[in-house]
Amino acid sequence: MQSLFWLVLVIAALGAASYWRLKLNIATLLVAAVLAAGSIAGQVGQLSWILFLLIALPLNISTVRKQYISAPFLKIYRKIMPEMSRTEQEAIDAGTVWWDGEIFSGKPDWQKLHAIPAARLSAEEQAFLDGPVEEACRMADEWEINHKRADLPPELWQFLKDNKFFAMIIKKEYGGLQFSAYAQSRVLQKLSGSGIVLASTVGVPNSLGPGELLQHYGTQEQKDHYLPRLAKGEDIPCFALTSPEAGSDAGAIPDVGIVCKGIWQGEEVLGMKLTFNKRYITLAPVATIVGLAFKLQDPEGLLGKEKDLGITCALIPSDLEGLDIGRRHFPLNIPFQNGPVRGKDLFVPLDFIIGGPKMAGQGWRMLVECLSVGRCITLPSNSAGGTKSVALATGAYARIRRQFKLPVGKMEGVEEMLGRIGGNAYLMDAVTSMTTKALDMGEKPSVISAICKYHLTEKMRQVVNDAMDVHGGKGIILGPNNYIGRGYQGAPIAITVEGANILTRNMMIFGQGAMRCHPYVLKELYAAANDDQQQALEEFDEALFGHIGFTISNKVRSFWFALTGARLASAPFSDETKGYYQSIERYATNLAFLSDVAMGVLGGELKRRERLSARLGDILSYLYLATAVLKRYDDEGRQKADLPLVHWAMQDSLYQTEVAIDELLDNFPSKWLGKALRLVVMPFGKKYARPSDKLDHQIAQILQTPCDSRDRLGKGQFLSREEGNPAGLLEQALDDILASEPLYDKVCKAAKERLPFMQLDKVAERGLELGVLTEQEAELLKRAEAERLRTINVDDFDSVELMADKSLLQTDKKKSSRAA
Ligand SMILES: Cc1cc2nc3c(=O)[nH]c(=O)nc-3n(C[C@H](O)[C@H](O)[C@H](O)COP(=O)(O)OP(=O)(O)OC[C@H]3O[C@@H](n4cnc5c(N)ncnc54)[C@H](O)[C@@H]3O)c2cc1C
Repeated sequence: MQSLFWLVLVIAALGAASYWRLKLNIATLLVAAVLAAGSIAGQVGQLSWILFLLIALPLNISTVRKQYISAPFLKIYRKIMPEMSRTEQEAIDAGTVWWDGEIFSGKPDWQKLHAIPAARLSAEEQAFLDGPVEEACRMADEWEINHKRADLPPELWQFLKDNKFFAMIIKKEYGGLQFSAYAQSRVLQKLSGSGIVLASTVGVPNSLGPGELLQHYGTQEQKDHYLPRLAKGEDIPCFALTSPEAGSDAGAIPDVGIVCKGIWQGEEVLGMKLTFNKRYITLAPVATIVGLAFKLQDPEGLLGKEKDLGITCALIPSDLEGLDIGRRHFPLNIPFQNGPVRGKDLFVPLDFIIGGPKMAGQGWRMLVECLSVGRCITLPSNSAGGTKSVALATGAYARIRRQFKLPVGKMEGVEEMLGRIGGNAYLMDAVTSMTTKALDMGEKPSVISAICKYHLTEKMRQVVNDAMDVHGGKGIILGPNNYIGRGYQGAPIAITVEGANILTRNMMIFGQGAMRCHPYVLKELYAAANDDQQQALEEFDEALFGHIGFTISNKVRSFWFALTGARLASAPFSDETKGYYQSIERYATNLAFLSDVAMGVLGGELKRRERLSARLGDILSYLYLATAVLKRYDDEGRQKADLPLVHWAMQDSLYQTEVAIDELLDNFPSKWLGKALRLVVMPFGKKYARPSDKLDHQIAQILQTPCDSRDRLGKGQFLSREEGNPAGLLEQALDDILASEPLYDKVCKAAKERLPFMQLDKVAERGLELGVLTEQEAELLKRAEAERLRTINVDDFDSVELMADKSLLQTDKKKSSRAA
């Protein structure tokens, strides 16, 4: 019995050492101290000491440990590690690790999170949003752009160029605006509320493309020539990577450049002959310079020994003879400029390579490095902005539209949708603010960029689907009165571009995340790849034992958190949010532990087990999203009125985290291991449920009632109440309908009759007759009626108006007269 007590003490000491992540030598001393106390008490005998020394000595004597443990492991490791292609290697090396690393550590540092300053706009950026951005939104008539013209009107194109909308990322020294990432995000959010064509047209040149690549890698000559022209809008850029045969697998482009000599402007120069067939290229039909990705080959060895130099990026003027450009694709009825670019044996000098000949073969690295920034901004911001506008519009519509004598927004079924829309809108804005702030602090978080791209575009698709359902037929019938249908049509575009979502979730988030964010995996990989055997062993030994300690610690911590419901985990606040911080720490620890087990069991095979990888990525992603929500709540002064939104976003994210863990364990390749792991991380099942009906109800109220929380949700969107801005007019209609309800009640009471809440102009007349309304009140009712009708009415068209090809009318007429 006494021996059992000391055994429990030893286990407790090991558990404490693991929980607090003590160093191996300190943990050894701790156990030795317990054994010594046991010996003094006469309860621990020689056998226990021998056992202890047999284990402790080889582990603590570095030379013995390296020779007999680390060296054999290194040998096995080198055999089982999967081959990594150059493009995979470059993708993994690109960018930085930021808050994703904190999550992966299993012990996020909350002080660090809350020490990050809240994102703010400069006076100049704010003035741009209040001035030119507001004006651009005003000039964008969505119906005219989408249906009548299939393009922005020329005056809007000119306005965008004159006001440097395409130069937000270009440095001031070259004439650009040099806005912060946060400001770029706010501009795109506002524009996206006014239409996808406008937001995409502005988003693309400011994202991954010639502007970004030139600033980072261009030669001084290239910068001096192109950047001022791009800043002034004299040049319009596009970037062509995708080919018919290479979409997601962009590294497999068949497009080539062959190094050769040729004649350029009358002189013989060293250059390359380009043959390519690109499609889906945004802005290509109007571009004046084309950023082109191709594989550079040097069969004659004109540049050196290397024959296949690899992916290379060059800038080609669009008026180059033989360049086939200008035709358009038609992306889902959202006609932003997009089309193919083709060329065969086009000769250009080597100087056309971005960065000059020395950057030959560096194209993939350039692209993935820039992608970690651009992918954090454009699509997440467009998605968040669209969602914010949709949230306000749907709340207003649901309050104004009545069925069964009630605003539809009061029906519980509709509240479910409104809850999801509002909760996601709060979360998405939180994510764009926190992430763009990271960029402004110099981070290039490649894994986070994939998380933002995937989750914000998916959430936007969910929100727009929900909003369509709430709007019913009003959302379906296209026309100038429809402010939501195009967003619904266009949602799959955001899902597909910049890394299609299935691929991003299943391959990229965890695939890169595990390598980049894990504190030891990359170190082990680099150590194994080191040709200096002695150094390789040193580094591998350090990484391996760090890794083993990390895994044991995460197992102990996971089990402890599961037993205690993480109630003793750290949290910087002891209010309503405390439990959320603690849960994030718990699941971050689970992520670190389960990742290690999955990698240990499956090794390189995990890359092919995409669905397991996707679920591990989901855990990482939802914990990132949840962190952003807590950060936003704090940055905005812990507004109690916003708590329903915070609770919704947190509970949904943590519920989704638990679903991912649950499904991962259910689908673990070894059933028994899955069950054993469940005993460690989730022995009592899930803690979180989907957000409750009560929360949905509270958020539905926020969306349907003007209040500070609602204002914060829609902050920065184009809501000015003027003709041509459906979002602003809906806000006015909501105010007027709410103000007219008590007047309507007054009239009903005086008339001793429950009148239907329609024909409010007639209700106004009745109120005047009964002497219960003033002229002003009657006017308000009449105005509210006009606004109500505008809100619920849809458009209709003459059949001919809807025909894209009106010449068919003549053909049909001829046919029918012939038949007659
Ligand atoms: C409107 C629009 C604008 C675009 N703009 C540009 C541009 O300006 N410049 C440019 O170069 N390109 C552009 N693209 C191309 C875009 O980046 C590609 O469409 C995208 O990379 C996907 O390629 P794909 O369409 O050929 O799909 P595919 O590669 O054929 O993929 C089909 C499906 O398979 C999935 N998938 C593929 N591989 C895997 C995997 N290993 N694991 C799991 N799932 C996988 C994908 O997620 C996708 O769902 C644009 C595309 C569109 C539609």
